[in-house]
Amino acid sequence: MKALMYTGIEQLELQQIADPEGDFVVKVAGCGVCGTDLKTYLKGHHYFKPPTILGHEFTGYVTRAPKDSGFKIGDPVVVAPYAECGTCNMCKRGLKALCKNKSFVSGGAFCEYVVLPSDYKAVLKLPSINNEHPDMTAYTLVEPFACVLNGIKQLKINEYSNVLIIGSGPMGALFALYFLQNGVPVSVVEPNENRRETVASWGIDCYAPGEVDVGAFDNVVIAVNKAELVNQYVTSIADGGTVLLFSGLKKEEMLSTDSYSIHYRQVTLTGCSGYAMDEFNTAFEMISQNVQHYKRLITHIFPIEQGANAFELLRMGKAFKVVIVP
Ligand SMILES: [Zn+2]
Ligand SMILES: [Zn+2]
Repeated sequence: MKALMYTGIEQLELQQIADPEGDFVVKVAGCGVCGTDLKTYLKGHHYFKPPTILGHEFTGYVTRAPKDSGFKIGDPVVVAPYAECGTCNMCKRGLKALCKNKSFVSGGAFCEYVVLPSDYKAVLKLPSINNEHPDMTAYTLVEPFACVLNGIKQLKINEYSNVLIIGSGPMGALFALYFLQNGVPVSVVEPNENRRETVASWGIDCYAPGEVDVGAFDNVVIAVNKAELVNQYVTSIADGGTVLLFSGLKKEEMLSTDSYSIHYRQVTLTGCSGYAMDEFNTAFEMISQNVQHYKRLITHIFPIEQGANAFELLRMGKAFKVVIVP
C-alpha cells in the first residue's frame, strides 16, 4: 500500500509498503492533519519515533471485520484512535480522558489501510442521509471536536457567559464554531490577518492581540502554545472566570501565575487534553446534524502523493484543517 512515511524531522516520504495484516481492517478514506502531527514533523515527538506513519483523525471503509464486530464489508466508519477502559480508578472517578489503561489503534492513517485490534469497540458507522453517501471528509473532524468538547466540559458556561478564544488555528476555530452554533457569545484573538478574516466571515468577533477588553469575558480558552499568555489572561479575565490551557506546552515548562487573581478574584486555571468516548460520541452526533457548519473548517484536501505539501501549508498558517486522502 501507499504510505506517507515520517522518516525524520521535516521529512515525509511516499513509500510503497506491505499491506498490514489483521482481521479488522479499514481502508482509509481521509485523515486530518492534527497539531500533534505537525509538531512531530517540525520538532519530533518522544512517542512517534521515525520511521513511522502519523495520522489519527480518520474515516474509511471496513474491508475486513470479525464476525461479532457488528460491521460488514463496505461499512463507512469513523475510528476513534483510542478509547478508555471504563474500569480503572480514573474511569470510575469519571475522569475517563485520563484513563491509564486505554485501548488504541497502533498504526497511523496517512496510508491506505489501518488494522484495528480484533475486539476494538471505538468504531462508529457513518449514517447515510436520504440514501446519500456520508461525507467521509467532514467526519475526520470527530476526533479533534471530541477533544474540544472535553475542553468545554472544563469551562463554566452559563447563560451570562462570554467566551474568548486565544488563537484561531484549527482547534481554536472549532471551539468558536461550537459556541456559535450553541448561541454562546464568543470572540477570537488571532494575530494572523487571513485567519481573522475567515473567522469573521463566519459571524464571529475577531481581534488582533491587544485590541480586546479581556475583563469582559468569563471564560478564556488558550489554544496556542505560548506559556507567557497564561498569566496575561489569568490577570485580565473577569472575576470568577476560568482560563483553560488547551494547547500543550513543553513538559518542563513552568508557569508563574498571579496569586491575587487566583485567591481574591477566584479565577480558575485549568487544562485538558484528549477525549473520552462520551465526547467522541457527542462530537459524532453534532457533526452528523450540522455537517456544513463544521465542514467549513476543512480548507484543503490533498492526495497522499502531495502529503508533504499539506504539512508545509499548515506550517505557514495558510490553512485551517487539512485532510489527506490516499
Ligand atoms: Zn488530533
Ligand atoms: Zn480506564
